[in-house]
Amino acid sequence: SDVGSQKDRVVTEEEWLEKWEMGNIRFHKEEGHPLLQKYLDVLLNGRSGLRIFFPLCGKAVEMKWLADMGHSVVGVEISEQAVKEFFSEHSLPYCEEPVPEISGAKMFQSTSGNISLYCCSIYDLSSSIVGKFDGVWDRGALVAVNPCDRQHYASLMISLVEKNSSYLLVTVSYDPNKHKGPPFYVPESEIKSLFG
Ligand code: SAH
Repeated sequence: SDVGSQKDRVVTEEEWLEKWEMGNIRFHKEEGHPLLQKYLDVLLNGRSGLRIFFPLCGKAVEMKWLADMGHSVVGVEISEQAVKEFFSEHSLPYCEEPVPEISGAKMFQSTSGNISLYCCSIYDLSSSIVGKFDGVWDRGALVAVNPCDRQHYASLMISLVEKNSSYLLVTVSYDPNKHKGPPFYVPESEIKSLFG
């Protein structure tokens, strides 16, 4: 009941695009996330050359970190502006190509080949298009998903990970009656019921 004030709230794709256009992107952190540094060993679990997925990636600098460590990074983001800013802010040359399976979608890939960002809605992806992943960095992603779409999001994420994958999830703890989100409040009990 404490999340009742948020459960019907919807942020549309147009509103997200507008946030990017207006530079209203306080969620973006230039320094990278301290929790990824702290839990990097959990994500990697001694493995190298992983395929790591960044849902709702924005221009997260952690994508560059992990690619520089030798992993292959795949992200999905609806804002083309965000994707282009990622490559230009890291001075990474890239090429862009259509995604035959998804009408209107484009894939932006670093020339070195180890960072591929899909510009489309995450709900258009499937493992037949992007394959499966060994690791996930979910920061500002589940908590940005509209509460009515959480179940869809979680089952899609489960379908995109390998059996022995590690999934790092960052949520935000606060009083949902005082703030409408995003980030939305996702209680631990709901995470358990979404992901099992
Ligand atoms: N994870 C990033 C960005 C968080 S903000 C970070 O840590 O900085 C959430 C992002 O999701 C925004 O950039 C928004 O444009 C994008 N987004 C929202 N809905 C989406 C959808 N359905 N598919 C893909 N991207 C989406």
